[in-house]
Amino acid sequence: MGTEYDNLEVMADFFNTHDKRMRFENDPGIEHFNTSKDLYDWLLKHQLISEKAEVTDQDLELAIRLRTAARKIIVNNVFDEQDHGLSSLNEIINRFSFSICFTEDQESLQPLQTDGMSGLARLAVLIFELRKNKLWHRIKVCSAADCQWVFVDHSRPGTGRWCTMKACGNRAKNKTYRQKKA
Ligand SMILES: [Zn+2]
Repeated sequence: MGTEYDNLEVMADFFNTHDKRMRFENDPGIEHFNTSKDLYDWLLKHQLISEKAEVTDQDLELAIRLRTAARKIIVNNVFDEQDHGLSSLNEIINRFSFSICFTEDQESLQPLQTDGMSGLARLAVLIFELRKNKLWHRIKVCSAADCQWVFVDHSRPGTGRWCTMKACGNRAKNKTYRQKKA
């Protein structure tokens, strides 16, 4: 696993496998996890599993549940019901088992399960580490309701609200301007 900011990008990419950006009214967005092969490809791309790992339909179902529960605890997420976010996340995390591994200069949680479950457990470890290292709040949902793209807030004070100022930020500003004018 890379630096902490890389880990934030992996998490954001995980959330965006359900792309909620609306291209037209009532667009439900795009689900990128449709088959266990989709999940396999995604986990492999982020080096969370080995090429030989098997990913099942149950893994896919769990991945989607993990994604939904974790999305609820994104700190600025006003779009999803945040109630019970932590308890449902904990319930999902309880499905995984870990061991603690000490090396000379650090300690880490190691998934005990194999295949697809180990990949999902590694994602759980990412969430654990980002929260423990006080970086979780750097994951944000774009404030534009028709976007909701998940991004990593690189602004120094951590006050970023839009995925890109160019698109969503300007759109929001123009809207406010139009509303003021009207
Ligand atoms: Zn946006």
